[in-house]
Amino acid sequence: MRGKLFIISGPSGVGKSTILKEILKDEQLVFSISTTTRKQRKGEVAGRDYVFIDAAEFEAKINQKEFLEWAKVHGHYYGTTKKWVEDILDNGRDVLLDIDVQGALNLRKILDYGVFVFIMPPSVEELRRRIKERKTETAKSLARRIVNAEGEIAKRNLYDYIVVNDILEEAILSLQELIAKARIV
Ligand code: 5GP
Repeated sequence: MRGKLFIISGPSGVGKSTILKEILKDEQLVFSISTTTRKQRKGEVAGRDYVFIDAAEFEAKINQKEFLEWAKVHGHYYGTTKKWVEDILDNGRDVLLDIDVQGALNLRKILDYGVFVFIMPPSVEELRRRIKERKTETAKSLARRIVNAEGEIAKRNLYDYIVVNDILEEAILSLQELIAKARIV
């Protein structure tokens, strides 16, 4: 049987990577490593978190139609490699995409499958606090991420499921439950 595709979005700082780290302990589920032109952050591993390339290389891949979807987020390119995702699904394992709202909505238009999940912060103020705490952003990029978050939150109803990350353990459990449910149908 072909694997299931899970598309997860949520604003930067919502705690998505913490949630996904737990979710990905499930060996049936494979994380799709995106390609990006943004700079590698401290603690990130190239080839595990992202494939880091420059804009010219990214644009060449767009022209060669290597991406299932791609988008420009916070001024940088991000894309999902088509062949890789399709091979895993064909091999019967499930794939998890962590992509932004533009990318997810593009996929909605071109795919007739996929489970779309939006992860919400309890409030925008709480989101601002979490991003500041992470200390990875300048004031300018923090402001940009907050504006972007508000735009993304406004589109949450276009997803199949919304999970609020207020209490981490509960958010993880909700996501695990909906993944289990999607596998039965
Ligand atoms: P970050 O720079 O914080 O790792 O990610 C910024 C945003 O880019 C997040 O919302 C993340 O979900 C999104 N993103 C990561 N990879 C992809 C991708 O391959 N495609 C799209 N459309 N968005 C992505």
